[in-house]
Amino acid sequence: MRTELSDQRPCTHCGDCARACPDALDPEALFFALVQDDFTAARAARLDACSECNRCTDACPSHIPLLDWLRWGKSETRERAHADGARERFLARNARLARERAERAARRREVPSPAALPVQTISHAEVLAAIARGKAKVRAIVPDRRITKSPPISGGKNS
Ligand code: SF4
Ligand code: SF4
Repeated sequence: MRTELSDQRPCTHCGDCARACPDALDPEALFFALVQDDFTAARAARLDACSECNRCTDACPSHIPLLDWLRWGKSETRERAHADGARERFLARNARLARERAERAARRREVPSPAALPVQTISHAEVLAAIARGKAKVRAIVPDRRITKSPPISGGKNS
């Protein structure tokens, strides 16, 4: 940004710039706010309302490049707003990931470890009953599994 002109002189607070502004702004106040990097003050002085007509610069007897400052201030305001939005999205994402990690950890804590589970015992009679039920099911599917074929007769050529 151009900050100096060969014929630029200090502001005399003459008020000519404010009288020339068709948008009823105070270019001098805007100028000093931006020089001091005070964007809160620049917003309060309605920087965004500037129509960039350049009349304040034309009217300034000190040849201060007011419009250059105003344009820089508007552009910087947009960039800072963009950066603020990106930072907020970044922080929100980090907070969401941390919350999800905490929720997953809490869910893991709720699942009992195998050592904490109650020991299930089964009696010998129950085992036998289960075996019997299994055999009954097999018999129902294959009613006759008996081997009816005779074994081969021993005493062949080597006997
Ligand atoms: S450039 Fe902006 S501040 Fe300057 S006179 Fe025009 S509207 Fe007003
Ligand atoms: S016209 Fe120039 S010298 Fe006068 S108050 Fe505005 S900025 Fe300052």
